[in-house]
Amino acid sequence: MKQATKALHCGYVKDKEITMSVPIYMSTAYDFGTTDFAASSFNLEQGTDNVYTRVGNPTSAIFERRFAEVEGGSGALAVASGMGAIFTSILNVAESGDNIVVSTQLYGGTVTLFSQTLRRLGIEARFCDLEDLQNTESLIDDKTKALFFETISNPSICVPNFDALITLANKYGIITIVDNTVATPILCQPLLLGADIVVHSASKYIGGQGNAIGGLIVERKNLSEKIKDNVRYPEFNTPEVSYRGIVFADSVVSPILFTFRARMVVVRDTGTAISPMNSWILMQGLETLALRIKQHSLNGLAVAQWLESQDTIKKVNYPLLENDKNYTNGKKYLTKGASGLVSFEVADFETAKKILDKVELFSIVANIGDSKSIINHSASTTHQQLSPDELEKAGVSAGLIRLSVGIEDIEDLIADLDSAINS
Ligand SMILES: *Cc1c(COP(=O)(O)O)cnc(C)c1O
Repeated sequence: MKQATKALHCGYVKDKEITMSVPIYMSTAYDFGTTDFAASSFNLEQGTDNVYTRVGNPTSAIFERRFAEVEGGSGALAVASGMGAIFTSILNVAESGDNIVVSTQLYGGTVTLFSQTLRRLGIEARFCDLEDLQNTESLIDDKTKALFFETISNPSICVPNFDALITLANKYGIITIVDNTVATPILCQPLLLGADIVVHSASKYIGGQGNAIGGLIVERKNLSEKIKDNVRYPEFNTPEVSYRGIVFADSVVSPILFTFRARMVVVRDTGTAISPMNSWILMQGLETLALRIKQHSLNGLAVAQWLESQDTIKKVNYPLLENDKNYTNGKKYLTKGASGLVSFEVADFETAKKILDKVELFSIVANIGDSKSIINHSASTTHQQLSPDELEKAGVSAGLIRLSVGIEDIEDLIADLDSAINS
């Protein structure tokens, strides 16, 4: 089955009694029926997540199964937000004293999570330019628990060399975590390239209408083989006190280790659970993702090409422009398009401000991935919290404007940009 079909049908077993639309189970808890069943559920012997909605819910389970299929993984876990997905996956492998090696080209929220909040928890994020493989390798040591990067970085729009980075991580038995929010599984499937974990903000292209926050963690098929008996990951290979000493890697309940432990330990304890209502809303988006992201990508490329032809624009970032520094990786890994994320540099802060205040179809919104076009000035909004040094590392200059090109008619979009930029 192809992805567009999976996005509509997987994970939901229909019979004549059941609705065409997935039902929303607004229930906090589930009737166990007998004390024995209740006890064994709590001890992870039943293979059911229907204990309490903080750890699982039937509507969310449909979303998770369907998304795992579309992403090409063995299992998925839906959580409250993209940040929740990132935090949960890091906590699933790292503790105080550990470190993670991460790209400097990351979403602003991820940068502050890594550089501030994780630091306060004793987990060190080692930021580095992943193009410099030698330096990246030199940062890895016995306490390195993950290598983290984005497929298409937001807002700097870089595309990493997947093959080189995955080979490097595998050399040391380290888990690679890829934020695939901007590419979506339709444009790139990191798990099929050998990455171990994919995380998403489902609030963006997956939802597609800008109306619900959610996140996803998806794991590669056979990831358990990499985790089992790997001394880097004791939390999977030593007895878990909170479940009467079970060893996750030996657990017969679920061979899908990473998301299983993330759910049953990390989300159970931190409460980053998704609401079943949001799972349902985001699933509506998922059903049309393949169609939408194709149009976003066509419009994104057309806008990038048009911007490139304008004398007043200093620089345009889009991985499928031949002059872009990411073109080699973009062409290799984004064969079906590069999304609606385009950024460009104008002379200075004031010029950027003038353009933002003049456009009409593009809204000034701190978001991406909505079907409606969005314009954003990173230095004064999403990246405001970063220091000048961090800004430079994230590739954000004072005149950088980020567009999330929507699926409106391309002629209207270019006319709007033209009048804002050139008049
Ligand atoms: C928005 C975004 C996030 C955070 O997702 P939320 O759902 O807003 O928590 C993480 N990574 C990337 C690349 C994003 O664009």
